[in-house]
Formats: sequence, structure tokens, C-alpha cells
Amino acid sequence: MLEHLAKTDPKVAEVIRNELKRQQQVLELIPSENIVSPSVLDAVGSVLTNKYSEGYPRKRYYGGNEFADQAEELAISRAKELFGCEHVNVQPYSGSPANIEVYFALLQFGDKVMGMSLSEGGHLTHGHKVNFSGRAYHFVQYGVEKDTELLNYGKIEEIAKKEQPKMIVSGATAYPRQIDFKRFAEIAESIGAISMADISHIAGLIVSGAHPSPFPFTDVVTTTTHKTLRGPRSAIIMCKEKYAKPIDKAVFPGMQGGPHDHVTAAKAVCFAEALKPEFKDYGRQIVKNARALGEELSSQGLRLVTGGTDNHLLLVDLQPLNVTGKQAEEALDKANITVNKNTIPFDPRSPFDPSGIRLGTPTLTSRGMKEKQMEKVGELIARACKNWNSEQELGEVKKEVLALCGEFPVYEDL
Ligand SMILES: *Cc1c(COP(=O)(O)O)cnc(C)c1O
Repeated sequence: MLEHLAKTDPKVAEVIRNELKRQQQVLELIPSENIVSPSVLDAVGSVLTNKYSEGYPRKRYYGGNEFADQAEELAISRAKELFGCEHVNVQPYSGSPANIEVYFALLQFGDKVMGMSLSEGGHLTHGHKVNFSGRAYHFVQYGVEKDTELLNYGKIEEIAKKEQPKMIVSGATAYPRQIDFKRFAEIAESIGAISMADISHIAGLIVSGAHPSPFPFTDVVTTTTHKTLRGPRSAIIMCKEKYAKPIDKAVFPGMQGGPHDHVTAAKAVCFAEALKPEFKDYGRQIVKNARALGEELSSQGLRLVTGGTDNHLLLVDLQPLNVTGKQAEEALDKANITVNKNTIPFDPRSPFDPSGIRLGTPTLTSRGMKEKQMEKVGELIARACKNWNSEQELGEVKKEVLALCGEFPVYEDL
């Protein structure tokens, strides 16, 4: 790896080598992260990065696009097969631009939209006031119930009937339960609104059959490709044929210039990998691992928001241990366990030092860990949280983390 860079720019080469070493030596539990295959890395690091290909296959503004067209057409046909969608645009640079492009395609500035609030599990681009989405459109936010910490579809329907938004956005970044996309689509249809599902976190679970799909009833579906889907850092927009034209126009020339052809090729690689039967086992294992990790944490006295998980992530309430999210994140960091502090629904504390942490199993599952290892990981997390101010105990936990990491290499041959 890096044979050229090591000679021409040893400083950057060292940064990258150190990052590989870090990835190898930590238990990475950030639910939006994953480890791509060496084949995806090959495509991302390929000569397709040299090409400009504004436009769409066979309708480009630049010459020399024979192979860029082929890369994009492969990505399109594989995405359609994988998700069963009518139309797909594979050019969005990442998840946030993809969402903005959908709004730009189908709404007027100032239009009313419904989305899940960030503090209760939504994403910034679902209408948060500091985000472009919340500035350019009139977002009405929904959340979860205080007692159950679950989405209440009856209540969402009531808000929709009262507010009459033009679009209803579903999808989340910190919701540990299944999302009823069918119900969302029905609510949208009942008031003549467009249904949009952002499946960024759970796309890999959906194509594995480990979470119900938003197809074919949802009008527009966006997803990142780098989370549970295990592809390059990017996104795609899928939609019913009737929305294809405005969506494509909003992506280019509306928002973006030239597509990142090297990443498009890597998306094609990722979709082919996700079409393999093994990927179904992988997606299901992510969920089994999250359940096993949750059970261990519960038995150690930590409280799981909603009482458990149906997907790849756990939201853990640390209040029973008298530890804050920030203290836990920092303590776990010292023990080489990477998590992120996170608000829990109706958090009495601030987002800078909230009451919870968010944990996910995609990365550890990609490394080959199973339920047995999750039990151990849960035990180590609980031990670090309970001993957050003991350097010695955290050092002991770190030793065990390093031993476990050594058994499950991130890349066999890098
Ligand atoms: C991650 C995520 C995004 C944003 O993706 P980026 O690639 O970070 O811009 C959007 N929506 C949801 C639900 C996400 O989880």
C-alpha cells in the first residue's frame, strides 16, 4: 500500500498508515461507519478521478466518456436490481447533498415539509434550524413519545393532517427500532404529500432483508452508500419514474458539477458485493450482534432507549451509572473503544455533554465478530463506563481491547 506516496510525501503517507493502525487497534462502534472491501478501495483510488463527465451517460458535456459512461451504467443497473427501484441517480456526492437535491427538485423554497427532529433521532438535513434544509424550507418536526421513546404514527398522521406539508421525510440517525415506511407513505398519500425515505443508516439491512424496505410505495428514497451498505463515501437518490426528470435536473446542473467517476465505479463495486448471498448473512449478523451487545449492556445495568434494538444501533442511557455521555466517550477512548456521545430523547442535559452514547455494530461485524465477541465488548464497555475516572482500570480494559482487535484484522493484507 502507498508505494508511491511513501516516496513522494512521507508525511501524508505516515498519516494514512497511522490511521490504518488506529482502525486496527480500536473497537469502532460508531454506527454510521464501516470498513469497505479492498476492491472498493481500488476503485476509489483509480484513474477515473482524472475524468470530467458533466451530464449523464451518453449525454455528456465533455468528450472521452466511453468508460465513465460504462461505470455509471453499471452502478445504475446494479442499484436498480439491488433495491428494486424504478429510477436511480448515482451522482450525489454524499448524503446531505442528496437530500438537499431532492428538496430542490420537488419543492419551492418556503414550502412546508415534515421531518424528524435531530434531538430525537433525525438528521440535520431533515429540517434542523442551523442546516440549509431548515433555512430554505418550512420544516415541521416530529419526534418520539416520551414514555415509549417510539414513533407514534397516529400522532404523526395528526400533525400531517393539521399542517398539510408538501413532503414527509422519514428516516433517522439514532432510532434503534424499525421504521414503518409503508405507514409513512400512506400518511403522505392521504394528504397528497410526497413521501421521502432517507435510509442512509439502514440501507445495508434493507437489502439483506433485515429491515422492511421502503419500496415500492415510497416516492423518493435517498441513501448514503458508506454506512451499513459498506461502499464508498457517497450517496444515491432513487425514485418513482414520474419524479426522475426533476431529480436528475436538480442533481445536475441544479446542485452539482462533474460527478466523481471514481466513486461512481466504487458504488458499482459495492452494489455487486451487496447483491451476493453472503451480504444477506452479513446484514442479519449486524442485527444479531446489536441485540447481543444490548443484552450484555442491559445485564450490566445500563438502560437501552426503547428497551432494545431492531437494527444496527443502540442508544444507551448512562444515567443509571451516574456517568455523562462526554465522560463515557472520553473514558472509552482511553480504552480504545470508539463511540459517540448522543442525546437521548427528552434529554435533561445539553448536546455537548448529553446523557447517552450511541453504539453500532456494522464495523465490528465487517471484521468478523459475532455474538460471542459482542458479549465481551459489552462487558468491556460497561467496565470502562463504571470506572470512567480510573486510569488504571481503563488501561486494563485497553489491554483486553487490543487482544480482541488482534484476532480480527481490519484488512488481512494491508
Ligand atoms: C449520514 C446521514 C446523512 C448524511 O450523509 P453525509 O454523507 O454525512 O452527508 C443524511 N441522512 C441520514 C439519515 C444519515 O444517517
